[in-house]
Amino acid sequence: MVDKLPEEEHPKPAFGWAARDQSGVLSPFKFSRRATGEKDVAFKVLYCGICHSDLHMVKNEWGLTQYPLIPGHEIVGVVTEVGSKVEKFKVGDKVGVGCMVGSCRSCDTCQNNLENYCSKMILTYGAKYYDGTVTYGGYSDSMVADEHFIVRIPDNLPLDAGAPLLCAGITVYSPLRYFGLDKPGMHVGVVGLGGLGHVAVKFARAMGVKVTVISTSPNKKQEALENLGADSFLVSRDQDQMQAAKGTLDGIIDTVSAVHPLLPLFTLLKSHGKLVLVGAPEKPLEMPVFPLITGRKTVGGSCFGGIKETQEMVDFAAKHNITADIEVIPMDYVNTAMERVLKADVRYRFVIDVGKTLKPDV
Ligand SMILES: [Zn+2]
Ligand SMILES: [Zn+2]
Repeated sequence: MVDKLPEEEHPKPAFGWAARDQSGVLSPFKFSRRATGEKDVAFKVLYCGICHSDLHMVKNEWGLTQYPLIPGHEIVGVVTEVGSKVEKFKVGDKVGVGCMVGSCRSCDTCQNNLENYCSKMILTYGAKYYDGTVTYGGYSDSMVADEHFIVRIPDNLPLDAGAPLLCAGITVYSPLRYFGLDKPGMHVGVVGLGGLGHVAVKFARAMGVKVTVISTSPNKKQEALENLGADSFLVSRDQDQMQAAKGTLDGIIDTVSAVHPLLPLFTLLKSHGKLVLVGAPEKPLEMPVFPLITGRKTVGGSCFGGIKETQEMVDFAAKHNITADIEVIPMDYVNTAMERVLKADVRYRFVIDVGKTLKPDV
């Protein structure tokens, strides 16, 4: 913890909003960031998205949380200081940090730019850093991270609507690429139209892929087709619609984090189709095997992405004008915002205006 840091490290005073216990309620919190090391980049946080995993973490629903916890892993801002050996960034650059701030850098996955699958990967908040300190996220005034884990934000990408790309964006971009669902002319389904799903539609469309949104809610049809540019829409509870679309999809990005049936999704896939799960239901899902065998279908999972690919995703988004649809909120609205996320009452991502509304004198 902060107050046990050795004096010679000169930790920097910082300020954020933290959860102190399992109630998950956030309140103002003074803490320290480590001094900017020789390979570190320090930046002033301007915006931070609210990801669904922040909700799980503040309430310790995954059993990993140590309090106090400062969440936030969709962080963007402007560089204020760089260490003496930093090569890629300078003061004033627009940068971001996503889900991780460290990895071993030497194992096979790290060597292959897949730090996100490194067994020693260090999460952006609520994890132990190499120096024994706890990592704190972006619901705070400042960040410090090794330059390897810093992403450059292109000039034409808005910082507020670009922030959610650092988790939501890469989480759907990476599987579209890895599972080969990025080829023009392909037909991909996106299940669930929330923070992840709505950017999945945008990325897939920009890749030249035909997109069908699959949702339990018929209310989202107009939004999906007109605002997000999806080609078609299926109500998953409508048996006739689902039957008519049988065997039409090359792949599905399933963003649903609640327990849900997989069989209807298998049925939508062509032979050799791939179902990729990126939501994380707390309980196991039932998996009928027969339709997998008979159609040689694949079920896979995917967990955000490596730094090289995250940069590629951000650059691709800037080139194709892809951002998240957001509602910008002040810092002191965060607890209400989290309640609204639980009710799926947001289109589609809350982004905290940290730069203008986090007041250190609270
Ligand atoms: Zn996230
Ligand atoms: Zn590694």
